[in-house]
This record gives sequence, structure tokens and C-alpha cells, in this order.
Amino acid sequence: MECEFCKKTYPTQSKLDLHKKISKICLKIQEKDDKNTKNEEKAEEKVEEKAEEKANEKHDRDDRDDRDDEETEIDLLYKETMGHTRSWAKSKKEYKNSSTEREKELLLYILQLEARLSEKDKYITKLLDNLQDKFKQVAKADFKIDRLEDTLWKIVKQSQDDI
Ligand SMILES: [Zn+2]
Repeated sequence: MECEFCKKTYPTQSKLDLHKKISKICLKIQEKDDKNTKNEEKAEEKVEEKAEEKANEKHDRDDRDDRDDEETEIDLLYKETMGHTRSWAKSKKEYKNSSTEREKELLLYILQLEARLSEKDKYITKLLDNLQDKFKQVAKADFKIDRLEDTLWKIVKQSQDDI
């Protein structure tokens, strides 16, 4: 049987156990080994601590990321809302402009109609003037015809008187 500390061999377990308890050399090795073990344990603990620290840090970081995600979501919502508000304001302005534009169009149409009406008025006035001229001409012609008739009647009477 081999001692795990000093590597000496013994025929039986009991002798090996005794050796481990009494051998000064082995005990020193055991003590050293114990220290090493303790150091190893300490080192392991440190590694574990560091791992835990890292895990905690990661957890905190994830938390922060989650918070960042939330903030991003809120930010997005805010931006979206602002976007809607802006586009609403824009369409409101466009509507206002378009209604003003429509009013302008209507006003222009009315002005054009008025211009056309006044042109028609002028045309009708001109027609009436022409008609009056024609009536005057007709009246003059009538007058001339009356006079001509009178003259003719006078001539006829004179000739009858002469006969
Ligand atoms: Zn030993």
C-alpha cells in the first residue's frame, strides 16, 4: 500500500494509517500538502468568488440592458407619438392650406364668372344699342315713307283737281 503523501509503501492498511499519523516526514508533507490544499481551496474560492462577481456583474449588466431596452421602448413610443403629433399637425396645416387654396380657387371662379357676366352685359347692351339704332332707322324709314305717301297723295289730289 502506498502513502498518498510521501509515496512510501506498506503491506497493510493499518500500518499505512499508523504511518500517516506518526511519520514526521510524512506529517510535514501532509502539513505542506494541507497548506497547499488550503491554498488551492483559497484559490478555488477566489475563482468562485470572481465567477460569482462576474455572474453578478453580468446580472447587473443584463438588468441595465433590460432597463436600456425599456428606455429604448419608451423612447420609441415617445418618438412615435411625436411623429403622429407632427404628422397630424402637418396634415392639419396642409388641410388649412388646401382649404385656403380651395377658397382661392372658388374666389377666382367667381371673379371669372363675374367677368363673363359683365362681358355678357356689355354684349347685351351693345345688342340693345344696335336694336335701338335699327328701330331709329326703321322709324326714320317709316317717317320717310309717310312723307313719301303724303307727297304721293298730294300729287294724286293735284292731278284730280287738275282734271
Ligand atoms: Zn507517508
